[in-house]
Parts: sequence; structure tokens; C-alpha cells
Amino acid sequence: MPGGTDQTLRPFLWRAENLYPDTEIVSRTHEGIERYTYEEYSDRTAQLAHALTDAGMGEGDRIATFCWNHHRHFETYFGIPTLGAQLHTINPLLPDEHIQFIVENAADKAIFVDPSLAEKLAGAYDADSFDSVEQFVIMGDSVPDLPFDAVAYESFIEGHDTEYDWPVVDEDQPAGMCYTSGTTGKPKGVEYTQQMLWGHTMATMTPMGLGIEDDDVVMPVVPMFHVNAWGMPFSTTAAGAKHVYPGPSPEPEDLAQLIEEEGVTITAGVPTVWLGLQEYMQAGNDVDLSELETVIIGGSAAPKAMIEWFDGHGVSVTHAWGMTEMAPIGSVAHLKSGLAEELTYEEQIDRRAKQGLIVPGLEFKVIDDDGNEVPWNGEDFGELYVRGPWVTQEYFERPEANENDFEGNWLKTGDVVTVDEDGYIKIVDRAKDVIKSGGEWISSLELENAIMANDHVAEAAVVGVPHERWQERPVAFIVPTEGADPDALAEELREQISEDYPKWWLPDDFIQIDEVPKTATGKFSKKDLREEYADEDLVEGQVPEEAAPDEE
Ligand code: AMP
Repeated sequence: MPGGTDQTLRPFLWRAENLYPDTEIVSRTHEGIERYTYEEYSDRTAQLAHALTDAGMGEGDRIATFCWNHHRHFETYFGIPTLGAQLHTINPLLPDEHIQFIVENAADKAIFVDPSLAEKLAGAYDADSFDSVEQFVIMGDSVPDLPFDAVAYESFIEGHDTEYDWPVVDEDQPAGMCYTSGTTGKPKGVEYTQQMLWGHTMATMTPMGLGIEDDDVVMPVVPMFHVNAWGMPFSTTAAGAKHVYPGPSPEPEDLAQLIEEEGVTITAGVPTVWLGLQEYMQAGNDVDLSELETVIIGGSAAPKAMIEWFDGHGVSVTHAWGMTEMAPIGSVAHLKSGLAEELTYEEQIDRRAKQGLIVPGLEFKVIDDDGNEVPWNGEDFGELYVRGPWVTQEYFERPEANENDFEGNWLKTGDVVTVDEDGYIKIVDRAKDVIKSGGEWISSLELENAIMANDHVAEAAVVGVPHERWQERPVAFIVPTEGADPDALAEELREQISEDYPKWWLPDDFIQIDEVPKTATGKFSKKDLREEYADEDLVEGQVPEEAAPDEE
């Protein structure tokens, strides 16, 4: 017999509001630290829903955010989907052209923008791409000078009723959306239905997920524009726990202060963030980590040394793997019961540094080049396929991408992995030609095209080199045309790329070579290029590549 209602986000909001009305939500904004309770949160979320309804927005409309992590952004997390509309979080760190493409492709009806990001959005704004946008809302109480009309968030919601008669929303209704740049070509939209977010929330709350309880104080440092901050605003609410949002561009000092003063027990972010905190403490700054129980690290591999460092400070690292396409958590490297007694500390670290055990609710398989499933022996490798209730079945309006990236109901992740006898997944390579720097994607293909657009460049290949701070950094190998001055050319290319792309896309170096190695079919072979330069120090901060499995 079917259940009484659909699997949607509404019951999580209802439960927190009614069972934990006094639990706090704390937020560092451009105005300072703000704090209120679930009771007030629920009131403001209802006011937001009324304001949107009055502005003619509701079920089926896509509403975007362009924001850092703070309480107002969190209000849109329930205010928009619980209304039956779709929360589309845009990554403000993308190049302008990608932002234009995303807004146009998603046909967003409104955009909520942080004051500190308004200039960035204004730079990306063009009337054609933003044609669908009827309302801009600035996340504060005033509006700066902009090339479009906007209203301040506080006046947008002010005076509205603090109760909303939330509709019963279908579980198949799209509730969220996020674009991934982790593939070649234009960013691809992934839609999350109510049911996908419900399932992801339930699984991640469990001990074999992220293990969030009502006495936790949860601080997602991972941006809320990155796959819903790994779903933590939802799972923290479902658990009835306290939220802490670190606001715009938090420095290690800000994080340290929030951890100490708010008693943070669980926090989450990419390795670069934690390296910053580590360095801050190593520089002699005393930070009290005694309340902090768990640091969730994901987005890129958690270095073993980082796991050990946190262990030494009495903080447990939970290493997680996931993708935009799966809302995003797929596996978590918990130690299975029994293994703690069986394994030495080094062996335990080895397991904990792997991408881990698939979370309850999902299935996976690993397929080699011949289409066969690889055995679980920790050595044979292949592409990781996953499926489950919160794994997307398609990209938004991208039939050609769907053909490549899905097989039946399996998502082909593009991650090349081994699986050991205990079922721990380990990423050993990436089939996709993209570079991940500090948790953000850089398209090598796009950089190559930009570089080869220069008349003095005959061939160019951009590869990611392993890096201690950013996990990967791009390096460009260029073959100049005859007679070109290599130094002047590198300078010219630097200027050209800086003009068109965010500064973190700029390759750390331009290395002149005679020829880009080619595969048998004449394509650029970056594998050969990487191997050729594996022993050379190409950029400052480079770390040696982990021994990759031999390819037969
Ligand atoms: P995104 O869609 O931006 O979340 O990126 C997903 C991709 O990031 C995965 O397919 C992996 O290549 C990489 N990734 C995510 N988490 C990890 C991790 N814990 N270790 C290594 N790579 C990761």
C-alpha cells in the first residue's frame, strides 16, 4: 500500500519548526554575525514564499541564487522548493560567458544576489541572456547601483504573513538545480526532484552517511552553490541541529572563530580550505578544536597527511566522494566495524583516504575498457558506474550528453577506480579532460582553444599537475609557430586569458615544446605528455603524482 504523502522537503521544515523552535541558525554576513531560531527561520521562509507568490512566481518556476553561505540563502533553500518552485544555485566563480549560458539555458525567473557579488553579476549581465529574469533581489537591506532594477531582500519579504499554507507538492516536481562544469564543453544542468533531495537527505543523516544528530552544530564551508553545500542545509534541518553559515569568502581566522564561539561539531569543505586552517594554526594561532568532532572532506581527494593532522588534534576526518549528478554524496570512507581492530593505524589511514563505501541506497559497478566488470581486488581498474534514487537520469536539455554519460539507469561517472576486497572505492584517474583546482573545475579544452586562437601558437595542450594547495593546477604546453618569440608569446597569452577568464583559470606556466605527443589516431596524448614531465618540477607547490596503475 502506498504511503500517505510524497517524499518531499516540506516535512523536514515542519519538524524543525515544531520540534526544535529554539535551535539556532547563525550566519556571518557582510553586516556581521546574525543569529535567530528555527521559529524565526520558519516565519521568514513563509514571508519569502508570500513575496514570491505576490510577484507572480510559484509552482514550476525556476528561481536562481548567486550567493555565499548565509541565513538568507538558507531561507531560499526551503522557501523556494516548498512552494513548488525550483531552487537554482549558480556558481559565481564561473567565467561570465558560462553564467550567461546558465541563466539563459535555465530561463530563471528571478535571481537572488549577494551584495558582494552584485558587481560580478553586473559584469556578466547582458539583456539577451537574462531575458527571462523578471526580478533581481539583493540579499541585504539596500540596493547598489546596477545595470538592472533590483529590490532589497528585506523589503521584498517585509510585512508579509509569517504563516504559509504550503502546498502538497508532487515528489517528481523539480526542487533544485545545479550546473556542472566537470566535463568538456558548456556547463550541464542537473535537476533534483523533491524525491531525490528527500532520499539524499535521509541517507546522509545516517551514521554511514554524514551522521548528523540534533545536538550537532553544523558548519558547511563548502559553498551553497556547490550542489546544495553537499545537502547539509537540508540534512541539518531534518536532524533539527544548529546551523552555522560562514558567509562571504571566509578566511581561516573567520572559520576558527566560528568553530570556537559557536561550538561547531561538524564542518565540511574541500581540502584547500582545511589546508588554510592547518597553516593558520601552524603559524602559531591557537585554535580550540575541542568541540569539533568531524571534518567532512570531499570534492577532491583528502590527503593522508591531512587526515593524520586532524587525528592528532582529536578531530575525525570523514572523507566523502560525490558528484553534481548525484545530489552529491555517493560514498564515504568510514571504517567498517571490525576493521579498526584488524588494521594497523597506517592501514586504517589507507582506507580512510580512499573515496570509501557506497552510501546506503545506492549501487555501483566498475567497468573496464572491454565492457567487463572488474573484480574487487584493489588492483584492477575501470570506470565507476552508479545508480540510485538521487542519481540523475539525464542532463537538462542535453540529449547528446545523455547518450555518452548514461547507460540504462547507470550514470557513468568518468572516475577511474579500483575496489578492494572490503568494497572501498579508490579513484586512480579521471577519464574526463578537466582540471579541478581548489574544488572548482577548469576546462582544459576551453583553455587550449583560447590559446590556439593566437596566431603565434601552432599547438597547445593544457594538463593538470598535482598541487599541494589547490590539488591541481593547469600548465600549458605550447608549440609556437616559426619565428615567434616565446617569452613575448607567453606574456601575450597571459594577458589574453586574464581578459577572458577568471584569474584562477590562468595556467601557472606556459612551457614551450617542439611537438605535442599524439595518439595512434592523431589526437593529443596528454597521458604521454604527463608521463614525459612527471619527474619535473613544473610549478611551485607541485607534489609528486601518486603511482597510477599500469595500463596494459
Ligand atoms: P562535482 O560535480 O563538481 O562535484 O565534481 C565531481 C567530481 O569531483 C568527481 O567525479 C571526482 O572526479 C571529483 N571528486 C569529488 N570528490 C572527490 C574525492 N573525495 N576524491 C577525489 N575526487 C573527488
